Amino acid sequence: MKELIDAHGRKVRKLRLSLTDKCNLRCHYCMPVEATFMSEEKYLAADQYVEVIQELCDYGLEELRLTGGEPLLRKSFNKIIQSLAKLPLQKIGLTTNGILLDKHLEVLRDNRVHHLNVSLDSLDEKIFHKITHGNYLKRILKNIEDAQNMGLQVKINVVAMRGVNDHELFDFVEYSRQTGLEVRFLEIMRIGFAREKQEQQFIEAREMIAHLKTRHELKIITKEIDSTSFNYLLDNNAQIGFIASESQAFCGQCSRWRLSADGIMRACLLKDDGLDIKNTTSLERETIYQSLLGMKPNLRPAEVTHFMNAIGG
Ligand code: SAM
Ligand code: SF4
Repeated sequence: MKELIDAHGRKVRKLRLSLTDKCNLRCHYCMPVEATFMSEEKYLAADQYVEVIQELCDYGLEELRLTGGEPLLRKSFNKIIQSLAKLPLQKIGLTTNGILLDKHLEVLRDNRVHHLNVSLDSLDEKIFHKITHGNYLKRILKNIEDAQNMGLQVKINVVAMRGVNDHELFDFVEYSRQTGLEVRFLEIMRIGFAREKQEQQFIEAREMIAHLKTRHELKIITKEIDSTSFNYLLDNNAQIGFIASESQAFCGQCSRWRLSADGIMRACLLKDDGLDIKNTTSLERETIYQSLLGMKPNLRPAEVTHFMNAIGG
């Protein structure tokens, strides 16, 4: 089989596909309240995503994760996943803020989108609003419960922020214990809109782990080599993970490419440059893929100016 392997031995195995840069929240580390978005006319159509992803499957792509912006806002979301479900992918996931899950659980289940990462930065309504400018906490918690009851695999992503939600660490441990869900704390990254506040709000994973150890015994859980997180089982059975993209970068094992809603393929989240695959032929894309292999940095770039919602987190 043809494979996409770069000079550092990293094989492209996973793709993050952003379906829109739009969102129904305004998380303060992601985008400004007055955000502007790309014209929907620029989006690739369902059959164009399918053509490219089928081709990447022929090159060894195994896993696809749909993201955004808020992917569930994409008007043709159902049509897109119905087409993608037919591809020979081992795993299809979705990263969502969870607000619109109630309208999509069945279509997700029926179209092989079984791995949901739900972003949930606070269990307190006031703090949730302060972070996201939205009042949806109860709805999201209910949607998570319904997704779990439907047999979908749900993980919770929490961006840890000093002085904002860091006092909720043990509340999330208790949430994990009660629900049986894995909760992963993300280090806030120096990307786009977050660059202004990142320094003052940053908490290193190591500090959170030390804090957890004041109350719990932690047992490390083995993960795939190219997993972005490292995880622990606590003595109360809570499952807590960390995505330490700033303090313990995983560039050396990274197996991901990203495709934006308008067809820009990127080899790295932290690189501004990407290559446009819109209206290209398969032959042209072969050259693009080879160029992208050389565009993946081996050492982690310190920061990047583009906004997270535009590329797809
Ligand atoms: N709207 C969906 C959501 O929030 O899950 C999907 C897109 S969002 C950009 C994907 C993930 O990126 C979320 O878990 C979000 O918390 C994370 N994220 C956004 N900006 C970030 C930043 N500056 N540092 C760390 N994580 C960030
Ligand atoms: Fe929207 Fe997700 Fe960005 Fe929050 S992190 S503003 S939910 S895209």
